[in-house]
Amino acid sequence: MRDETKLIHSGYETDPTTKSVATPIYQTVAYEFDSAQHGADLFNLAVPGNIYTRIMNPTTDVLEQRVADMEGGVGALGLSAGSAAIYYSIINIVEAGHNIVATPQLYGGTYTLFAHMLPKQGVEVRFADGDDAASIEALIDDQTRAVFCETIGNPAGNIVDFEAIAEVAHRHGVPLIVDNTVATPVLTKPFEFGADIVVHSLTKYMGGHGNSLGGVIVDSGNFPWTEHAAKFPMLNEPEPAYHGVVYTEALGPAAYIGRARTVPLRNTGSAISPFNSFLILQGLETLALRMERHCQNALAVARYLQQHDKVTSVSYAGLPEDPYHALAQKYCKGTPASLLTFEIEGGFEAAVSFYDRLGLFKRLVNIGDAKSLACHPASTTHRQMTTEEQAKAGVTEGMVRLCVGIEHEEDIIADLEQALAP
Ligand SMILES: *Cc1c(COP(=O)(O)O)cnc(C)c1O
Repeated sequence: MRDETKLIHSGYETDPTTKSVATPIYQTVAYEFDSAQHGADLFNLAVPGNIYTRIMNPTTDVLEQRVADMEGGVGALGLSAGSAAIYYSIINIVEAGHNIVATPQLYGGTYTLFAHMLPKQGVEVRFADGDDAASIEALIDDQTRAVFCETIGNPAGNIVDFEAIAEVAHRHGVPLIVDNTVATPVLTKPFEFGADIVVHSLTKYMGGHGNSLGGVIVDSGNFPWTEHAAKFPMLNEPEPAYHGVVYTEALGPAAYIGRARTVPLRNTGSAISPFNSFLILQGLETLALRMERHCQNALAVARYLQQHDKVTSVSYAGLPEDPYHALAQKYCKGTPASLLTFEIEGGFEAAVSFYDRLGLFKRLVNIGDAKSLACHPASTTHRQMTTEEQAKAGVTEGMVRLCVGIEHEEDIIADLEQALAP
């Protein structure tokens, strides 16, 4: 099946008992055991089945299968938010004393997790100087356990050459984890270019309507954990909480995603609500159509801003003259979603006064909504950073980030026109 079809059908067939065509919302906490033996078998992971909604839920299972199918992975784990997906994707294989290497252009929440929280748990995060493979490789050593990047950086809009980064990571025996939130699997499928693990905030384009938080980890099943057994004892040594199960033996290529469910999720509980899974499934049905319109509108807005005499620069990899356009061609057919940034003449003050005059555009910190959204990173998402940290993350004081929605192009441009006018 092609993407458009998978987005509507993967993971669900008409329920045989109720004949429900829409995915039912299984709003239950627990599931009854047939007998003591059945309960014991479930707890031993000896038979498949549901135990408790913190660990699994039939509505969420449909969502997981659909996203895994879209990405081409062996399995997925639905979570309460993209942030939980990122955190779990790392602690599932990295422990105190080890490090990870990341590109510098990251979502603000990911940056604070990496720069301020993981180090307190003994995990060092090394930020590369740039988003190229050589900058990453320079920081990898024997204690490195993963490399992390975003396929399209939020808010910088840089397109990362993650195929080259995957090669570097593999040469050093570690997996590449990529955040594919901004691109979505409709625009790029990271596993086809060598990434090992994909994480998403489902809150953004995937859900698409700004009404539900959610996250997911997808496992390609391709990383050879057993070849690097000494580096990844969590997947290769007996797990005390599950009667000594060895994940790579019990689950084979799904070892990583199986452990993510039965250790980090089971023990710390960032489960997604079945209702949110349902809403995100609704959103996924139209993802391909929405991304097409998001990309069309973003290109029209980028061209409009480019010719405006109060705009000093526009950064959108969909523009043929953008430095990232060649990578946008390589990874997403030249249409890199609808996140773009621009600079208004006059720096911080001009940016803020433009921002305050917006009408149709919502002032907020979110992306990937059907509605057009605007954010001033220097005063919100990236405000805790020093000016140097901001510069490294690709944020300047006069920069405005737009996430262009799917309203009519002329209405979107009219709003920008009036806000730039005085
Ligand atoms: C929003 C976002 C996140 C965090 O997702 P939540 O669902 O808000 O926790 C992570 N990465 C990127 C690129 C994002 O845009």
